[in-house]
Amino acid sequence: MVLADLGRKLNAALAQLNAAPIVDEKVLDAMLKEICAALLESDVNVKLVASLRQKVKAKAKAALESDANKSKEANRRQIVQKVVFDELVDLVDPGVEPYKPKKGQSNVIMAVGLQGNGKTTTCTKLAVYYQKRGFKSCIVCADTFRAGAFDQTRQSATKAKIAYFGSYTETDPVSIAAQGVAKFKKERFDVIIVDTSGRHKQESELFEEMVQIGEAVQPNMTILVLDASIGQAAEAQSRAFKESADFGAIIVTKMDGHAKGGGAISAVAATKTPIIFLGVGEHLADLDRFAPQPFISKLLGMGDVQGLMEHMQDVAAQNPDRQKEMVKKLEEGKLSIRDWKEQIQTVMNMGPMSKIASMIPGLPQDLFAGSEEDTGKRMKRMIYITDSMTATELDSDGSVFMEWDKDGKPVSLNWRVTRVAKGSGTSVREVEELLCQYRMMANMAKQAGGKKGWLQQMQKLG
Ligand code: GDP
Repeated sequence: MVLADLGRKLNAALAQLNAAPIVDEKVLDAMLKEICAALLESDVNVKLVASLRQKVKAKAKAALESDANKSKEANRRQIVQKVVFDELVDLVDPGVEPYKPKKGQSNVIMAVGLQGNGKTTTCTKLAVYYQKRGFKSCIVCADTFRAGAFDQTRQSATKAKIAYFGSYTETDPVSIAAQGVAKFKKERFDVIIVDTSGRHKQESELFEEMVQIGEAVQPNMTILVLDASIGQAAEAQSRAFKESADFGAIIVTKMDGHAKGGGAISAVAATKTPIIFLGVGEHLADLDRFAPQPFISKLLGMGDVQGLMEHMQDVAAQNPDRQKEMVKKLEEGKLSIRDWKEQIQTVMNMGPMSKIASMIPGLPQDLFAGSEEDTGKRMKRMIYITDSMTATELDSDGSVFMEWDKDGKPVSLNWRVTRVAKGSGTSVREVEELLCQYRMMANMAKQAGGKKGWLQQMQKLG
């Protein structure tokens, strides 16, 4: 998962709230100190961190002091957690909606950025992303500055079965861009991505070229591709580009393995431009859709039900009946252990594991600690556990694993847990944990399923 370290530290800070017998100003200050230290380590700008601290403190204090919230400690904890969550979302939220490609029309997307930031790779990733969602997509390589740029596009587009256009002989990028876009518009492509030249540094020539290509192809959206490793310097780079190419969105690449990514994301939000994707690896599928709330939710280990469902939607496109069934089950809050197992298996087949796994609510943070391989091993153990369950157990909501008293209250786990642990070569504790995680997932899915707007939104994607 991106920024796993930051996520762990934020979680540890929030966990202090649960450990404290009462939530008072001292506890609040100690928690804030840790949160701020974690954000600073992730290269978030000092001023932004100070502002977050001040806002959380003021809002939490006011809420805690209000008469209605004075009594119950559990409520007080939740209030503080919610204030922190909201302010973290605010930190990465530019408050601007990005352009969304529409089906049945040509959507021209122009990518700009410095050389080496990952622009060409990102163009192919983007084309694959939209193609998978039913947009007929293609790439125009208007990068005539870098030797080999067209070859790179040709190779990766061919591998991904994406249509492309470029030239080995034409040296004028404006002419190539115009020709390519005109050709693909005529052929009724839905998403036409124009890859422009990069330079080693910001130069006037580069900016002039960008403006000319923009005038020639009239993009619906211009995307700036930024490298996460520059941290908070992303703000200056974003502002410099904005002065000449008025881009409407940003993609931050190389988020995998860059602890400074938090700085880049918050710096970009400060320029009021929406980040739409994060590049999270070198493979074509390593592109995460970005939205402020789901991002923070995943970072804090709370999953991303909406993102997960979109992902399942992509997979389920090959099996529409199963997809309908899943949507119905979600809507009714009836996901069984078997359904959950299917999700985990789907995730395991899709790789990279940690990226998708972090969307599944209920999976613990330490599942993602260590390497991809470690995460894979841990997920395999979860599958072994479910493999040792009987059909009745798999199709249940987990209640068959409990002993119930005469008032219908669960009192303890029953013999089934020991049997499953023995059968799967795991421990009773691991089985218990899996059941607990399943219950968390089922509760969250139920809540999400109840939100009508969310379901409609999801169905529209199909
Ligand atoms: P361009 O000059 O901006 O077009 O950059 P390229 O697309 O050629 O990418 C430069 C290098 O960055 C290549 O080695 C890519 O594989 C790598 N790269 C691009 N995006 C990512 C990413 O999200 N994560 C990682 N780890 N590498 C990336």
